[in-house]
Parts: sequence; C-alpha cells; structure tokens
Amino acid sequence: MADRNRRAETYGKREKKEQPEKRVREQKKGETGKACSVYKKCGACQYLHLTYEKQLAKKREMLETLLAGSCPVKDIIGMKDPYHYRNKVHAVFGHDRRGNAVSGVYKEGTHDLIPIETCLIEDEKADEIIGTIRSMLRSFKIRTFDEDTGYGLLRHVLVKRGFATGEIMVVLVTASPVFPSKNNFVKALREKHPEITTIIQNINGRSTSMVLGEKEHVLFGKGYIEDVLCGHRFRISSKSFYQVNPVQTEKLYNKAMELAALTGSETVLDAYCGIGTIGITASGRAKRVIGVELNKDAVRDAVQNAKRNEIKNIEFYCNDAGRFMSRMAAEGEKLDVVFMDPPRSGSTEEFIRSVAEAGPKTVVYISCGPETLARDLKVFARNGYRAREAWGVDLFPWTGHTECVVKLERV
Ligand code: SAH
Repeated sequence: MADRNRRAETYGKREKKEQPEKRVREQKKGETGKACSVYKKCGACQYLHLTYEKQLAKKREMLETLLAGSCPVKDIIGMKDPYHYRNKVHAVFGHDRRGNAVSGVYKEGTHDLIPIETCLIEDEKADEIIGTIRSMLRSFKIRTFDEDTGYGLLRHVLVKRGFATGEIMVVLVTASPVFPSKNNFVKALREKHPEITTIIQNINGRSTSMVLGEKEHVLFGKGYIEDVLCGHRFRISSKSFYQVNPVQTEKLYNKAMELAALTGSETVLDAYCGIGTIGITASGRAKRVIGVELNKDAVRDAVQNAKRNEIKNIEFYCNDAGRFMSRMAAEGEKLDVVFMDPPRSGSTEEFIRSVAEAGPKTVVYISCGPETLARDLKVFARNGYRAREAWGVDLFPWTGHTECVVKLERV
C-alpha cells in the first residue's frame, strides 16, 4: 500500500523523512520533471527530490540492505510513466477560516488540513471529481464536518476508478445518515460527471481515524466497480482492498506466477487474498486454489469474482490467515504452493510454522513492508525454507514505499 493508502486507512505514524530544506534545494536544481506545491506539507512523496532512476536505485539498495544474508535481490521493476498511477484517491473535507470548503490531506502527524487540488500520483479524473464536489457544496448548503465541534455533514470523499474499464465509484462519507437534498446532489454530480458509474453514501459518525464507517447506502449504480487485471474481471467494493497501481500490479503478479512455476497439478493457497486477485490469476495453472482473507467485504467480492470469471477450482474462507493455516496443518492438509501477501505489518509465527507443516515446495511472499519481510524470512529459515530470489516492483513511485516478491523453497 502506498502512503496515501495507509493514511486513508489509519492516519498512522509515518517513517522518518529527509529534510524538506534539502529537497527544496535539490528540486530547484531541477532534478524532478514535475514539481508539487504541497510536497513539503503533505509528506507522501518522500522521493520527489530524486530522479525516477535514482528512486529505483535507492529502493533496490534498501532491499539489498534489509535482505542481506537472507536473500539475493535480482532487480527492481520500474514504471514506464510513473505519474497519476493511483486508482484510489481519498480527500478529507473541511473548511478554511472564512468557511470555504477545502479538501485534501492531513499534515503529517496532525489534523491540520492541507488543501490539494491536483497531485502528481493521483488519478487526474478522481481529483477533478473531488474538485467538482467541493464547488457544489455551497449551493446545496452542505456543510463540511468540523472535528472540534462535531457539526457539519461531509467528512471525506473517496474515488476509485477501474483503469481498464473506466468505471468510477464515488463514496461520500457523512457524519450522519441524514443527507438533505441527496437526490438532487447526486443528479447534479452525475450531470457534471456522466462517467461516474456508482455513488455511495457511507456513514461514519464516530470520532475515529478510520475513513469509512460500517453503514452504507447506494445512491446510484450497482454499489461497486469492476476492473480487469491479468485477463480477469474483478469487482471492487468501497471497503475491500485493491492494489492502487494496477499497471505495476500486473507486472508484480506476472513475476509472482513465474516464481511459482505452476504446472496445473498443484494445490495452492492464496493467503491474505483480498478480493482474490492472485488466487484467480493462478487458478488456470493449478488443480485447486484456497483463498483466505479477514475482511468480509473482500471475501464477498472474491466469491463473486470467482463466479464472474467462471472459475470452479477456487474456494474462499473468511478467517485470520494464521488461525486458518494452523487448523489446516492440524488436519494434516498438504499444500504444494503458497502465495502470501500480508499487510505492511507482515505475517505471524503461527502462520509461517503451520505453512511449514503443510509442506509446500514453494512459497511466494509478496510484501509491501520490507522490514517485516526481512523478519519473516528469518522465521521461514528456522522452519526449513530458504529465500532464493527477491524482485522489487515499484508500485509506489515518488514515495519511499517498496513492494517486493520473494521466492522461497523447502530445503
Ligand atoms: N492479495 C491481495 C490483498 C493484499 S493486501 C491483493 O493483491 O490485492 C493484504 C490483505 O490482507 C488485505 O485484504 C487485508 O484485509 C488482509 N488481512 C489483514 N490481516 C489479515 C489476517 N490476519 N488474516 C487474513 N487476512 C488479513
């Protein structure tokens, strides 16, 4: 997940960054092709002061340092046109001192809203829609939510776009279910942006760092969007995880498939499977695929995705991956290949130990958190698995985040 993504979910702490002064100096030297007016305050693009080639070199170096002694790093796969790659854009809504609506991101570690109109890494259409919503608020007498007083309605807007299908979802996150003139608002928004295919009202009344609340109403369209990845069609709902850079995700999955070297006879586990993208991509080259995922909305999407793509050799389970895997191991089930793609916090001893009991010959570990990957590879080593090769795939250009895929083999 990119930094933006993480912020959308948690507003958690971010890692240490380089000094902004240094970046200004370097940026003035014209190292970057395109500048950003808020990069100092926003903090998402930590590598904006570097050329793209230098970013890749730095990420590769970082992987080599972290994996030194446990796995050789083969290469890092970069992006051809590393701009506007994010298919999911989140904007916090608030107002300035004069009461004008603003939208953007919170300044790092604070709840100070930094206005953003355009962004180098976000989808341009999504930014345009967010701008339209901002400009419509006054005439519809919609107040933005004020965290201090608890007054106001609109808290966040989330836009997701299927790059391959062009389908667009707009999620309006409101503090209360009462949304006066919502029908007219939706109508006006659709007139301005006929390309929007679904509009959802999500209700989040709690004071929490989570963007989305439990309850939702579909105001227009089918309530989800679809996208095409590696030749399969995937349904994505507001709350389920979907990789934010689909162009690079295809390269990542292709590399993962290559490392798995499936022949058609294997029983495969897709752990931390989200909406089932990896398992479904692997299903045509395996005998049987089992997917496990904790988020129930994602599992529901995964089941639909299997049906939609007429895939019969895949099952999905909603469970904690560690608990599920330890039960499988206790029941003596065997696996041939395991794909695992945990969140940034990595996997668990419980999961890794049980995987070793199920005895797959190959484990393909996809990671968006190189530090936790390095930790987990050591656990694998203690359980009889050696990491053979690692490939970086740049899913998050301009940010300091690195995605990586590792092939492990039973020794
Ligand atoms: N493989 C998917 C999703 C990867 S993101 C893809 O490529 O799109 C990591 C996923 O792990 C998320 O969907 C998250 O909901 C899920 N997850 C987080 N903790 C989990 C746990 N303990 N057990 C199972 N799944 C978990």
